[in-house]
Amino acid sequence: MPLIIFGYMITMRRMFAQLGYSPLGPALLGIAYFAFAVLSLIEARGSHGIAAIWPPSGILLATLLIVPRRAVWRFAIAAIVASLAANLLDGAGFGVAAGFTAANGIEAMVATLILRRRAGRRVSFIDPSGLSTFFIATLIAASVGAGVAACISPQPSPEFTLAWLSTVWLGMLLVTPLLFAIFEVAASAKQAVSVRESLNLIGIVMLTVVATGITFSQSQFPMLFVPMMVIVIAVLRGGMLGGVISIIVVVVLGSLALWLGSGPIFLIRASHESRILFFQFYLLSLIISALPMATLLAARDRLRINLSERVRLLDQAEAAAHIGHWRINPSNQAIFWSPEVFHIHGLPDGQPPALDQAIDLYHPSDRRRVSEAVTRALTDGQPFAFEARLVRSDGSVRHVETQGERVYSSRDDAIGLFGLIRDVTEQIEARQILRDARDTADRSAEAAMLLASTDALTGLANRRRIVEYLDARLKGVAAGGAKLSIVLFDIDHFKLVNDHYGHDIGDEVLKRVASAAAEGLRNTDLIGRYGGEEFIIILPDTDASLALQIAERVRSNVQASQVAAQPMVTVSLGIASTVVEDTSNGILKRADVALYDAKSAGRNQSRLA
Ligand code: GH3
Ligand code: MG
Ligand code: MG
Repeated sequence: MPLIIFGYMITMRRMFAQLGYSPLGPALLGIAYFAFAVLSLIEARGSHGIAAIWPPSGILLATLLIVPRRAVWRFAIAAIVASLAANLLDGAGFGVAAGFTAANGIEAMVATLILRRRAGRRVSFIDPSGLSTFFIATLIAASVGAGVAACISPQPSPEFTLAWLSTVWLGMLLVTPLLFAIFEVAASAKQAVSVRESLNLIGIVMLTVVATGITFSQSQFPMLFVPMMVIVIAVLRGGMLGGVISIIVVVVLGSLALWLGSGPIFLIRASHESRILFFQFYLLSLIISALPMATLLAARDRLRINLSERVRLLDQAEAAAHIGHWRINPSNQAIFWSPEVFHIHGLPDGQPPALDQAIDLYHPSDRRRVSEAVTRALTDGQPFAFEARLVRSDGSVRHVETQGERVYSSRDDAIGLFGLIRDVTEQIEARQILRDARDTADRSAEAAMLLASTDALTGLANRRRIVEYLDARLKGVAAGGAKLSIVLFDIDHFKLVNDHYGHDIGDEVLKRVASAAAEGLRNTDLIGRYGGEEFIIILPDTDASLALQIAERVRSNVQASQVAAQPMVTVSLGIASTVVEDTSNGILKRADVALYDAKSAGRNQSRLA
């Protein structure tokens, strides 16, 4: 019989899924309802008119809860027809058969309405509140049904009413969760049940059959605790489905034994009605102890799945951000590392090193700093943050930012360290690349500036630079600074040099004169090539007489700088000093006139403007 129930339910589940609107679903419900009603009525007749359990009520309730709302009435009609037929077959008059059918229909409707209202479309047995709602709703429904039946029964009695209530309630309590458990399995897996699960369930059924068989085949020892233990095992191994199947085996074998007059129930010296009531309460206690346990186990499984999902998400987030977290246990200084901490250290995920070894993984010149920070945090509770280098076993260096602080563990109230470590190598490398690029840009800008203000042949300041410098210095003089002088000089008869020796030698001579003239100048003095073979020296804070001395020194330096292979050249120099409200044009003009004077006077000499 358990196999029939099981087979029926799997078939029904398939049918509901695929043929919810076809007549086949309601027809199947009708057949099952009829079959179980007849079986129960036969059992009742053998047991002085009282069955231990009324499975059709559970089959109908589960069906009404599972099928779509719009299809409910088709299934209800099928159940009504089946119920009428079973009652008539049992010998009831049409009025009583119709009345009992109405009572069964009202029960199912009451339970369906309460459960659908309370739990919506999905009725759940795997959370405690859903389970208690289910217990209460089915108790109310069975009470209403018992009340209606008592009004219709030809021989109403308190025993009849109580028996109706308990058989219907047990029928709903047992069969509905079983159908739902099958529904869950069938809805979650592509195949109804995996091979391993089937073997597990078959094992549970066989164990229950053996234990219940031994218990109920004798009437000498009160062994009712044996099936109870087996049901606990069934729940632990098979969850809700295993528990319900196991209880159903006890129901079936127990009822059979009761019918045959065997079992520990017969140790009770009481009327047969009391024995059946005892058996029903025994079944109820099995359900009440097994189902909540199954619920808690399911809740624990959900929590475990949830937790492992969260841990996986955290690991992924840490890997994406290159941030790991770590803990140091205060009592034994044992370390915990998250997977990303291993990854940052370049180590395979596994057993983290001891604290000393972990500190040794830092760069030798960072170790002391790291060790001090950790020790201080462990002893004084000071939070820390440092940037340091890790040296991986392959020799590569990673830059990390580590921070830590003292935390209280919620479990044992002990003080520990908790912290984060972040791999910032990429950022630091990017920063370094940026810094290098900026330095290169600075250097080329400087070079460009120098190029723009330098004379290519002699390396002296060019005309632009000279004029800028002169203008700037003249502003200083105008603002009350000391006098400024300039020396303008020109190579004598340079055209002849070019003509006799060629332009290249001419260039060499220009360079030689430039470097000889630049000798011995002060930092603030600036010598430049003014154009062609004409040069200029700006002499800040220099009066005319000092400027004349400097000019003479330049002249003798040039004269002294002769080189064997090159023609000997001399220079003529014109000196000018600032006057009131002087301009660069003004002073340059005066120096030029003085230079012309020097040329006219025979060259190789200096003249003051
Ligand atoms: P003076 O004594 O009157 O100055 O006679 P000079 O021959 O030097 O006459 P001037 O100053 O007019 O001649 C300038 C000559 O300098 C003309 C040009 O051939 C030459 N010169 C100008 N710039 C350069 C240069 O960059 N390289 C060479 N080799 N010669 C140059
Ligand atoms: Mg000239
Ligand atoms: Mg000249």
